[in-house]
Amino acid sequence: MTRALPYGRQLIEDDDIAAVVAVLRSDALTGGPAVTGFETALRSVTGARHAVACSSGTAALHLAAMALELGPGDAVIVPSVTFVATANAARYVGAEVVFADVDPATGLMEPQHLEAALKRCGTARPRAVFPVHLNGQCVGMAELGELARRRGLFVVEDACHALGSVQGGRLTGACSSSDMAVFSFHPVKTVAMGEGGAVTTADDRLAERLRLYRSHGITREAADFLQPAEAFDAGGQPNPWYYEMARPGFNYRASDINCALGTSQLAKLARFKTRRTELVEAYGAALAPLAPLVQPVGRRPDCVPSWHIQVVRIDFAAAGTNRAKVMRALAERGISTQVHYLPVHRQPYYRALYSDTALPGADAYYDRCLTLPLFVGMENAEVERVVAALKAVLS
Ligand SMILES: *Cc1c(COP(=O)(O)O)cnc(C)c1O
Repeated sequence: MTRALPYGRQLIEDDDIAAVVAVLRSDALTGGPAVTGFETALRSVTGARHAVACSSGTAALHLAAMALELGPGDAVIVPSVTFVATANAARYVGAEVVFADVDPATGLMEPQHLEAALKRCGTARPRAVFPVHLNGQCVGMAELGELARRRGLFVVEDACHALGSVQGGRLTGACSSSDMAVFSFHPVKTVAMGEGGAVTTADDRLAERLRLYRSHGITREAADFLQPAEAFDAGGQPNPWYYEMARPGFNYRASDINCALGTSQLAKLARFKTRRTELVEAYGAALAPLAPLVQPVGRRPDCVPSWHIQVVRIDFAAAGTNRAKVMRALAERGISTQVHYLPVHRQPYYRALYSDTALPGADAYYDRCLTLPLFVGMENAEVERVVAALKAVLS
């Protein structure tokens, strides 16, 4: 009996369940020690100075945009091959999105794509770039970070695909060449916490702002109070009930329930990464005979990826078929596939907002990409099964 294969899924084990149950039996379901525990664990696996947990990767992106005080009149450069949330974060704060092209083989933004996008900012002031570490492979951050620094741009890495990836000898999330990095812990990502996200940074002031905006923009720090007459009593002591909000934030907190799961899962990151790498290698070997019709996603030499998804590039036209037919035929065999991603600049919202940008690299990547099943609980024999099915469907 063959089982249905999703393109990605979580692996939850008994100790993960026990960690969540322990929180459910404790006093704090939110705002408690499991949240700070998760942040400490994330700092240790990323090498970050600060980690701020929040309710999703999308919330993390929004918090990063707020912490940088991006707003109307500002331009944010975003590669078009990403999840919509990367671009939307700029729109949440009223900034303009300028889409960058990507390498058609890797889907990654390179410095020349950033340079080209900077020339398309029009009247908006370029303030930030949000590079995306697609599929678990990293953008060349040393080079891109250097270019950004020369152009006076903030850098926020969308590392939602790349927890555990190492590039140029540096862990993703340490922010060696960026201001912040953003993670998601949605169940399809490498580490699951239900819904959850985080921002890492080496910058104390940014970390403080992230924490502020994560919880309504409310502060109880006496040193930050702007209205001393209301904040302090006659003896100069802060009034015990008093808090202040200088700028509205959101409720983007992560609960202790989610964070307990996240901490338990983070402890397994090395094992998850190893298993995903083994599966990707098995795919590589099994797919080799299907070249050049089917090729794994292009590799960057300086990155040791913590693979998030298994993307292949298929020349559907040369195979005399199209992607819809292939996806449906694989689905009939119990194999779920996906497309990561429909280039964001082609979404109706962005097409209506900005006149259509020609991004040939993004279009070429999109035309061929297909995401095959990859998850920690997958068997090597199932890799063989997927590749055999793909071969049958294409011939
Ligand atoms: C998943 C993902 C997000 C959003 O994360 P959520 O936790 O689902 O909000 C953002 N960017 C990329 C590249 C993602 O893959």
